[in-house]
Amino acid sequence: MSAETLDQIVSLSKRRGFLFPGSEIYNGFANSYTYGPYGSELKKNVKDLWWKTFVQKRPDIVGIDGDIILHPKTWEASGHIGGFNDQMVDCKTCRARLRADHLVEDALKIDCEGLPDAEVTKLIQDNQIKCPKCGNKDLTEVRKFNLMFQTQMAKTGEDSIAYLRPETAQAIFLEFKNIIDTCRVKIPFGVAQIGKAFRNEITPGNFIFRRLEFEQMEIEYFIREEMWEELFDTWMTEMDVWCTSIGLNPEKCHHLEHEKEKLSHYSKRTVDIEYDFPFGRKELYGLAYRTNFDLSQHQQFSGKDLGYRDPQTNEKFIPHVLEPTFGLDRSILAILCEAYTEEKLEDGSSRIVMKFKPQIAPVKVAIFPLMKKEGMPEKAKEIFSSLSDIWTVDYDESGSIGKRYRRQDEIGTPFCITVDHESLKDDTVTIRNRDTMEQERIAISAVGQYLQKQLNS
Ligand code: ATP
Repeated sequence: MSAETLDQIVSLSKRRGFLFPGSEIYNGFANSYTYGPYGSELKKNVKDLWWKTFVQKRPDIVGIDGDIILHPKTWEASGHIGGFNDQMVDCKTCRARLRADHLVEDALKIDCEGLPDAEVTKLIQDNQIKCPKCGNKDLTEVRKFNLMFQTQMAKTGEDSIAYLRPETAQAIFLEFKNIIDTCRVKIPFGVAQIGKAFRNEITPGNFIFRRLEFEQMEIEYFIREEMWEELFDTWMTEMDVWCTSIGLNPEKCHHLEHEKEKLSHYSKRTVDIEYDFPFGRKELYGLAYRTNFDLSQHQQFSGKDLGYRDPQTNEKFIPHVLEPTFGLDRSILAILCEAYTEEKLEDGSSRIVMKFKPQIAPVKVAIFPLMKKEGMPEKAKEIFSSLSDIWTVDYDESGSIGKRYRRQDEIGTPFCITVDHESLKDDTVTIRNRDTMEQERIAISAVGQYLQKQLNS
């Protein structure tokens, strides 16, 4: 998959209402995007599938929906105020702000993680690394930049500063006591959450891959310390299965083990799932063993008891935690890349088709009256009403049938139903399959059952 493919996907996303560049009427706002009508359906379907897979179908996982702005002490305890930094430099000529580690990585193929600022500065200066924007070598020294977005609250004084959460996980730790007091959860158990996170990324980009505002789907899975290795492997498998369930080709998904000395301050083991995006192999998801760092820190900073008492042994301890984290926007980007297909047809023409898994396709079925007369629209609308009770359905009566099929192919609709002259006589319709383009004729009364079977297969 080439960089041009990403351009095609960006252009299709705008043309077909998956993702619009944000604030376009004000000439745009860097790196902001709006999920359009089909993009928001796709995103909702992925969220629903995730919730169903990891919360609804699992007796050992419960869900919460926490706030974006949490008590500022949260971020002191979690280590984000002191340590959630990237290394940056400014170009003195064109004033571009750049990720220092990325500059060194690109120019020298050296991984800077964990290197002190002074050493990275030396690497840049000794090797005369240039600003990629203007080509000049006049770069400032490397310094730390905290990625948390600050906001000012109405009250005055020191505690008027608050932060937009840079990860959803912390709300789960803050509610740990409430959850064990109110739900009948027993270790091992998990708490799941889907929600927005914010990071003041120095170099956002690659469409929706690196954004300032994005969504995460995260689970904190509470365990006894001695369980961690076995359950780490179990979670790795669960995550691989999830990748397949949203239609990602396993050959494009890879595990990347973080080197021990480069692990985050809270982690004893981290493995990323990387995906082959058109711009290279990059992190899609992560699985981290966070020990009992977070709960211990919050217990210390809040002075509240966050221990868990084993109902059988009566032993009290601070649980350890495994964290499978799934970026939602990166999931959508990977799904769009995976689904995007250009096909040459037998008649010499070509088509673009988004081959989404039916379960997550934004629209499940489109209904077309062949003509806008002779009672065809009325019959088609009747079918629309009955099916839209269950699925997201498109109704389209304009343009040739061929053009209507092409449009639905580009938004990845698995089935199109056409109401024609015969339908008026014998209550049958044609159903066209997105991938094979084959059509079959079936009774209107059998349409619901047919779709149920096909969409769940
Ligand atoms: P990266 O190394 O790419 O900056 P990270 O290791 O900092 O990512 P985590 O802190 O592990 O990311 O966040 C969990 C998940 O959230 C990531 O696996 C990714 O899917 C998603 N994510 C993180 N940062 C962004 C961002 N700026 N925009 C979109 N998604 C993001």
